[in-house]
Amino acid sequence: MYDVLIIGAGPAGLGAAVYAARAGLSMAVIDQSPISGGQVLNTYEVDNYLGLMGESGGGLSDKFREHADKLGTEFITDEIQSVENLDGKKIVHGYERDYEAKTLILATGATHSKLGISGEEAFSGMGVSYCATCDGAFFKNRVAAVVGGGDVAVEDAVFLSKLCKKVYLIHRRDTLRAVKSLQEQLFAKQNVEILWDSEVTEICGTNAVEKIMVYNKKKQQTSALEVNGIFIAVGIVPNTDLFKGLVEMDERGYIKAGEDCVTSCRGIYAAGDIRLKPMRQIITAVADGANAVNAVQRELEKD
Ligand code: NAP
Repeated sequence: MYDVLIIGAGPAGLGAAVYAARAGLSMAVIDQSPISGGQVLNTYEVDNYLGLMGESGGGLSDKFREHADKLGTEFITDEIQSVENLDGKKIVHGYERDYEAKTLILATGATHSKLGISGEEAFSGMGVSYCATCDGAFFKNRVAAVVGGGDVAVEDAVFLSKLCKKVYLIHRRDTLRAVKSLQEQLFAKQNVEILWDSEVTEICGTNAVEKIMVYNKKKQQTSALEVNGIFIAVGIVPNTDLFKGLVEMDERGYIKAGEDCVTSCRGIYAAGDIRLKPMRQIITAVADGANAVNAVQRELEKD
């Protein structure tokens, strides 16, 4: 029986692992992927993580993992099927085997949202992508569209502008949600055209994406735009399906927990992007990992 099992090896899970190891707790990190990092792996460059300006997403993930490895963290690759709270004992049912712990830190992060339009599913991997750093190279010297107005969409458009002949950023409003510094980088790009107040209504093609239909809400007009690829960056959904009924969540599936990461279920803590909070950043995820371990220690001291 572990003192604490950490589910998820993104910044929150790895941050928790470092703090748990230093606190001398018996613990392990379980993730379905052997490659740690979570969403950070999809980031080309991270400019706002203190002390590591300009680090690549992959590089930062490697550093996080190396730190946890050096402190002796046990990493388990398994796909969790369900989680139970039986008389205070936490049982994690994996595909490979079951695991038992006194406490759990849930740090499963979030995944990209979908647009839910015609052609999105059919052309997924054939021009439709949710990760510019993973798939951008396929569109070298070609034309790509990015949908969204948040940090990810703007980062993606800036990244793709270095590879593609032309990039369209398609946003449903007339102002961007992304931070100012990213907006400034975007506006400086000569080969990026922003289509304001616009929504993509359909993705068309034969074997791969050839064009998208774009509706301009102000002009109330739909027009066809020839593109080779479309990168969808319209936000995230928390990976919390496994924990439904175990801990309280809001209507979008974010786990209700304060800065101490304490959930409605005693001995279970939520850290990182799955927690209901105002700011989802790498640095706040790492901080959650530390706070969750602090709460775990206080709980274990009660025994
Ligand atoms: P986000 O901040 O929620 O932005 C989502 C964007 O997609 C918004 O502009 C939104 O439009 C648009 N959108 C949502 N649903 C849509 C739909 N159905 N059709 C068209 N557009 C739609 O999500 P994100 O950019 O993925 O970022 C997720 C989190 O990670 C954020 O907290 C972000 O700050 C953080 N992050 C931070 C960094 C960084 O610090 N460098 C980098 C990446 C991500 P509206 O603006 O109209 O709502």
